[in-house]
Amino acid sequence: MGFSGFRVFREGLRGNRGWARQWRDPEPKPAYDIVIVGGGGHGLASAYYLARNHGLGNIAVLEKGYLGGGNVGRNTTIVRANYFLPGNSEFYSHSLKLWEGLERELNYNVMHSQRGIINLFHSDGQRDAFARRGNAMINQGDDAVLLDREGVRAHVPYLDFEQTRFPIHGGLLHPRGGTARHDAVAWGFARRADRRGVDLIQNCEVTGIDIVGGRVTGVQTTRGAIRAGKVGVVVAGRSGQVAAMAGLRLPVESHVLQAFVTEGLKPVINQVVTYGMGHFYISQSDKGGLVFGGDLDFHASYAARGNLPAAEHVMEAGMTLMPMIGKARVLRSWGGIVDMTPDGSPIIDKAPVEGLFLNCGWNYGGFKAVPASGWAMAHLMATGQPHATAERFRLDRFTTGHLLDEEGTGSQHNLH
Ligand SMILES: Cc1cc2nc3c(=O)[nH]c(=O)nc-3n(C[C@H](O)[C@H](O)[C@H](O)COP(=O)(O)OP(=O)(O)OC[C@H]3O[C@@H](n4cnc5c(N)ncnc54)[C@H](O)[C@@H]3O)c2cc1C
Repeated sequence: MGFSGFRVFREGLRGNRGWARQWRDPEPKPAYDIVIVGGGGHGLASAYYLARNHGLGNIAVLEKGYLGGGNVGRNTTIVRANYFLPGNSEFYSHSLKLWEGLERELNYNVMHSQRGIINLFHSDGQRDAFARRGNAMINQGDDAVLLDREGVRAHVPYLDFEQTRFPIHGGLLHPRGGTARHDAVAWGFARRADRRGVDLIQNCEVTGIDIVGGRVTGVQTTRGAIRAGKVGVVVAGRSGQVAAMAGLRLPVESHVLQAFVTEGLKPVINQVVTYGMGHFYISQSDKGGLVFGGDLDFHASYAARGNLPAAEHVMEAGMTLMPMIGKARVLRSWGGIVDMTPDGSPIIDKAPVEGLFLNCGWNYGGFKAVPASGWAMAHLMATGQPHATAERFRLDRFTTGHLLDEEGTGSQHNLH
């Protein structure tokens, strides 16, 4: 069943009774050629592109909960390609191009909105750093505009331009950056993967990885053993735990990241605004809620909920940047478990076990990476070679020292 404006209109008149299930609910088969562990954005996109780009069949995605119940449905929905380092730059640039065609590709309204992102800066040194970043973005073929203080004021007049702790000197505008409806992205990939014959198996937790003679042979799950020729581990915040089932210790720490949403308001914030000095970023959802977040909670954890000191820290930063936000009532907050690497960049690589592949280390920012990550993971699993845009996302960079330290904050998991 395809979506079209006409169908939406017709179903509106018929009480929406004509919509069918968006994907099947199959029983797991005893064996697949490829098993993807994790039904988040990256797992679903990997399965979809394995089928779509490489013509492969007999694929299953095993999800311990429900599709989209992890970080893919918990993030603050920001999509951007404003990276600086070669290695990251071309990958996120590729991802943004895929986003720009994603609704047509998936025949699904993921509400991708290129409303622009403004990263604020507060000192001459930061201006230089952002100018360099903007130049790198333009060299990569993406877009960037350096705004002075008045340029920022023209876009976001409601910020407090008088605050003296971190006075606003200007901002880097990334016009093609923006937001997308996060769970629609999971649903869109799920629906299309299912169409191509991928079995999406929910409530199926992987509890063990079978290895014989250094080669993966399948997985143990809460719904029985499943044999597989290749296994992709795409479980974001649970990467350390699942990789340990194969005897691996990953350079990944799991931390909680919280987000918040206010009651619905009339349109007031047109772009995404980020305030790095205060660890705060904000946009307005299409329903009107102000969606915002900040820094990690202050300790490693597998609890998908946050603590109050981090919440207070975020609120304080919001009040400093835009005092008007104090009038809005916060409706909800939630947390997700993010997979932090020491250099802040991801891993898409073969594991040191034949037939086992890793996709993890998405830190704060894996939502925008979903299409390109799936594309690159599918390429790696199908061909055995890294995709050209993801060649530097190697696991061994943490032993060779070829890090991709985008933030320049050094090797510490919670500093990215
Ligand atoms: C609050 C918050 C805000 C964020 N904001 C942004 C943002 O604005 N922009 C951005 O680009 N990124 C953002 N991110 C990061 C982004 O959401 C993640 O990097 C990305 O979603 C992770 O990949 P995923 O979608 O595959 O993860 P998930 O959706 O977490 O998928 C992993 C799946 O694996 C499943 N799983 C785990 N263990 C097992 C097992 N043993 N067996 C079977 N299944 C298993 C889980 O249930 C889960 O569904 C944010 C994250 C959070 C938490």
